[in-house]
Amino acid sequence: MSAYLFDPHPPVAVPIRGSQQQFPVRRIFCVGRNYGAHAREMGFSDREPPFFFTKPADALVLDGAEIPYPMLTENLHHEIELVLAIDSEAKNLPAEAAMDVIFGVAVGIDLTRRDLQMAARDKGRPWDWGKSFDQSAPIGEIVPLQQLAEDARQLDKGRIWLDVNGTRRQEADLAELIWNVPEIISAVSKAMHIMPGDLIYTGTPAGVGAIEPGDRVTGGIDGIGDLAVSIGARAE
Ligand code: MN
Repeated sequence: MSAYLFDPHPPVAVPIRGSQQQFPVRRIFCVGRNYGAHAREMGFSDREPPFFFTKPADALVLDGAEIPYPMLTENLHHEIELVLAIDSEAKNLPAEAAMDVIFGVAVGIDLTRRDLQMAARDKGRPWDWGKSFDQSAPIGEIVPLQQLAEDARQLDKGRIWLDVNGTRRQEADLAELIWNVPEIISAVSKAMHIMPGDLIYTGTPAGVGAIEPGDRVTGGIDGIGDLAVSIGARAE
């Protein structure tokens, strides 16, 4: 007899560029408001300490997927983001040591049910229903840091962009991150024991907006890669 009542779900895993092995995912951390212009478009100043929310690992959707328009929303938004893939265990990391725990990076989209997020925010309630729903975390292949050009490995610059049906919606540069990559990892590691398999979505630049059934969403980061998903009919 199996030790389990039903078959345990297989680990969620993301392809790794140039490898037969996949990256098994443990948790997904996401940074809120990490580009000044996006913080301002959401009604905040750009000088606030970083804060985080999470998505379940099985919210991940791989490159090329069609995602049903989610349940319960009338305002699904795109947020293009740099994603960090962690392969080491650490806590209380100083920023100076934080790059060492990164295995690789990917392009991701933090899909957001904006109407539910705003209603929660206004009432001081958790963001989960706005952020942590099924198929809310598209991700491209993970690119090992060592495969990036040497001048891109610090993750401190690089154009980041998103198009909907070929029209540019978001475009910025990683240099505009309010809290840079090592500072973000350091901040997470001071709140949680970070572990191999953790992903961190690092926040989105300005230009977030609605997407509809039938839309094709493409995005990328120069020097890292790109990602395409399409939005299908409303989920039943
Ligand atoms: Mn986001």
